[in-house]
Amino acid sequence: MKIVAEDSESITLDVSDLPHPLANALRRVIIREVPTMAVEEILVIENSSPMTNEVLAHRISLIPFITDLDNFNVAEECSCQSRLGCEKCVVRFVLRAEATDQPITVYSRDIKPERHDTKVAPFDGNIPLVALAPRQKIELELYVRLGRGRKHAKWQSGIATLYEENSRWLLYVESYGFLPPRRMVLEAARIVKTRIEEIGAGLKELMAREPQSAG
Ligand SMILES: [Zn+2]
Repeated sequence: MKIVAEDSESITLDVSDLPHPLANALRRVIIREVPTMAVEEILVIENSSPMTNEVLAHRISLIPFITDLDNFNVAEECSCQSRLGCEKCVVRFVLRAEATDQPITVYSRDIKPERHDTKVAPFDGNIPLVALAPRQKIELELYVRLGRGRKHAKWQSGIATLYEENSRWLLYVESYGFLPPRRMVLEAARIVKTRIEEIGAGLKELMAREPQSAG
């Protein structure tokens, strides 16, 4: 693969030399399999805002979080096997806001991590979440986990398209902000490689079991 163009949001790769099904597998894996971080669970301690808990939780769950793939495991694949999670599969945040005598707007930047050494944070701090009138208050605990787009679209890492231009095949990848585009491609390549190895091992096992034909 050759890089044709790259910036912080997107990357275009020339995949003409790649078998077409492999390029397409990369595209699909970027959309469905590359893990990203989003809020999976919310504990509402207080909510006197005009928004119901469900609507507020839904809004918050759609925020892309800057994703730390090197220090965290996908929840279902973590060795802790605990529903509550451990420090390798969950990052805890709090969202506390209160309007005193003036109305206020609560933004994604008001979401604060419990541990200050984490690089996980809302990708964009300027997403308005809810407006509070005087004396309204929200207090929430947020549990951010690694997940995959095939489980819920909120974890979809970005978009990926394969197209032909001047007799070259190009793979265009755009990030929603969770991960740098180059990392999305590298992670997808790693996942595809693992899958191919699994299929290879499975086939070998199957062939070993096949009774020898008498000829
Ligand atoms: Zn865990």
